[in-house]
Amino acid sequence: MFVRRIGQTWKSIVGACRFPQCLMFHSVGESGELAPVRPQDAVSESAFRTIIGEIATLCRPTSVPEFVERLQRGSVPERTVTVTFDDGFADNLTTVLPILEEFNVPATVYVATGFVDRTVRPFQYDLASLICQCATVRFQRNGVEQIWHLDDASGRVDCYSSIYRELKPESAERRSAAMLELNSQCKRLPNHAERYLCWERLRELAASPLITIGGHTHHHLVLDAVDRKEMRADIAKGKQLLEEHLGEPITHFSFPYGHHDRFVRNTVRELGFNSAMSIGTQYPWQRWDPFNIKRMPVSDASFSTIFNAA
Ligand SMILES: [Zn+2]
Repeated sequence: MFVRRIGQTWKSIVGACRFPQCLMFHSVGESGELAPVRPQDAVSESAFRTIIGEIATLCRPTSVPEFVERLQRGSVPERTVTVTFDDGFADNLTTVLPILEEFNVPATVYVATGFVDRTVRPFQYDLASLICQCATVRFQRNGVEQIWHLDDASGRVDCYSSIYRELKPESAERRSAAMLELNSQCKRLPNHAERYLCWERLRELAASPLITIGGHTHHHLVLDAVDRKEMRADIAKGKQLLEEHLGEPITHFSFPYGHHDRFVRNTVRELGFNSAMSIGTQYPWQRWDPFNIKRMPVSDASFSTIFNAA
């Protein structure tokens, strides 16, 4: 309901909202060359600066650990805003941290460790690059070959969304086998690994007193779609790697793509996390479950749909 009231300008997003808010960002910077094919999850630097400035002056910026503690005590003050980032993008250190420091706003960065140690390729970027470069894409699915002839922009978008939809819920092994086959059709794919923090840069980010690092699995899988053994192992591996490399306990988590079910939530709790973030909205905040805290996604592309959806 408040969504309709806040209108269409970035400036009014936070100012009009007295309810606690958890905001979810990914990357901050330019949309880049893949913009025509895949939906963007980036926010421009100027929009981000405006939002953080508004949060600092109009709201009560609160870290995730403090927010969770207040939620458990049943006392979340009006205008509490929590800023979070998913995946572990390199710009979280270079672009985001200086802005957070300028306005003294804390944030939590949920990191998928496979992107950081470069053992997991971000398949969505590889797929988008492939579709931008190739005139024809062949995709094998359950023994049937789909052939996409890509001669216009809408065909490329359709091809991206169709293959992305198929690969997203797959296990790490099947996803990576399918991408290997797809990537073999492309002469030279850009190295998208550099979009993410490496361990050294992650340690630099984690050293800021404004930053909390949280878990986000290792392979970035849809946790309620893969088998439970793989789900548990992937959450545990991400936590263990972060703790080894950062030398501190990792106690907050966010579900990749926001997907979860009862088993996933129980597993996250059993593995020693204190909270878990999903995606969506739910009011009043008194009903929020610390293992299913709803966040509002913020991106340049999602802005018009999300903020006009009510
Ligand atoms: Zn993610």
